[in-house]
Amino acid sequence: MNSSQVLPHFSYLRASSFEEYQQLTRVNQELYFLMQDVEKTILYNHQDQDQFKLNGYCYVCDAFSDFKIVRRRSKPNIDGLKIPNWREGLSCVSCGLNNRKRGALHIFDRTCSPNQKSKIYLTEQISPLYKYVASKFPLVVGSEYMGEKIPYGSMTNNGIRNESLTCLSFEKDEFDYILSLDVFEHIPDYIQAFKECLRVLKPKGKLVLSVPFRLNSPSNIIRAKVDDRGDIIHLAKAQYHGDPMGKAGVLCYQDFGWQMLDQMRDIGFSSVEAIIYRSRFYGYLGNNHTIFIGQK
Ligand SMILES: [Zn+2]
Repeated sequence: MNSSQVLPHFSYLRASSFEEYQQLTRVNQELYFLMQDVEKTILYNHQDQDQFKLNGYCYVCDAFSDFKIVRRRSKPNIDGLKIPNWREGLSCVSCGLNNRKRGALHIFDRTCSPNQKSKIYLTEQISPLYKYVASKFPLVVGSEYMGEKIPYGSMTNNGIRNESLTCLSFEKDEFDYILSLDVFEHIPDYIQAFKECLRVLKPKGKLVLSVPFRLNSPSNIIRAKVDDRGDIIHLAKAQYHGDPMGKAGVLCYQDFGWQMLDQMRDIGFSSVEAIIYRSRFYGYLGNNHTIFIGQK
């Protein structure tokens, strides 16, 4: 990610509250509609194709590449154009990483400037993203959640580490950065998970987080919870996301809103902000790309 070429400026918006976000969207309305037009034009030009490729610059590959778009689960929008799942799509044909993951690594690089001495905890391990981060930075620890199959903090025969984000086996003040991409929505006691991240981060260390987020919702939306007996109570239609550890999928307990940032500040993060981005050049299409940076 150290390009010698001059790349177009990558701009993003920063907001630390719902009010700030509303203000920003008012100021940037023109830009918003411009990008929407760009995306509509792309869809219009490819409307008969269930799959197509779009050229752009992959920040992870540090090169021009093609991004794959598959419209399997698209639903038509008001203009009759089928909108693909931009967030999970646009996988780079070279590194294989999708829109969401490429963007998260880009924002991580730009806002944290990690280096060879950075101690990084990634809350995933069986993934191309882990392989990529581990190939770039020597001091990376990754893990998967395997329940109580083996003790937390220990490894399987294949070298996969078992960790639960609500009771991490790490010492306090251990990491410069924690990178957690679309994991927190699967943790019923996500507040405890935030506390654990805070504990194991070094002073001024940063949690770089992505979660399904409703930019227009001041509050979190709790979809399911666990009662005192350990049973799951569904409060909304059950939603399951892909699970690297199995085919069944993993339950989404909550969609986050701006309340999450207040909750993080309440438990002790000194600053929390949302980075909101969208770019045709880098292949970050769609209007809901947000990465959260919580500093200890
Ligand atoms: Zn790539």
